[in-house]
Amino acid sequence: MIRVGIGEDLHRIDDGRTLVLGGVIIEEGPGLAGHSDADILLHAITDALLGAAALGDIGQYFPPNDPRYAHADSADFLRKALQLARDAGWDLVNVDSTVRTERPKLRPYIEHMRERIAEIAGLAVEQVAVKAKTSEGLDAVGRGEAMFATAVVLIERA
Ligand code: MG
Repeated sequence: MIRVGIGEDLHRIDDGRTLVLGGVIIEEGPGLAGHSDADILLHAITDALLGAAALGDIGQYFPPNDPRYAHADSADFLRKALQLARDAGWDLVNVDSTVRTERPKLRPYIEHMRERIAEIAGLAVEQVAVKAKTSEGLDAVGRGEAMFATAVVLIERA
């Protein structure tokens, strides 16, 4: 038995913060506003996994107004979602994802993000895809006001 899940996340750009995407610190920034480390890619993957297992959404487990999650490492969110999915009898099969941002150029960081996500999720790198796009100057991403991430996961009965 298999299930798919989709997740997405958008955060506003905040130049004063450190950019973290897929668990990788990207020094050149710009950073993203958020209660946790604002890792939109891990948030989208976490929501996709929770969605696939029909276990709710990330905000339900890690409320953005809960002081315990201030500056939280989003890897912990994904680990928790994996544990919940495992407890419900599901194994993660693969992750596909896209990050949309005008800057920085993400290509130099893609392999590192794949490796880091694979490590957090207990997958092989071949089971994790990260793609990067711009918004061609259109919408909030295109205007440099936000970054957006989408993820799809497949899970199977353990
Ligand atoms: Mg988020």
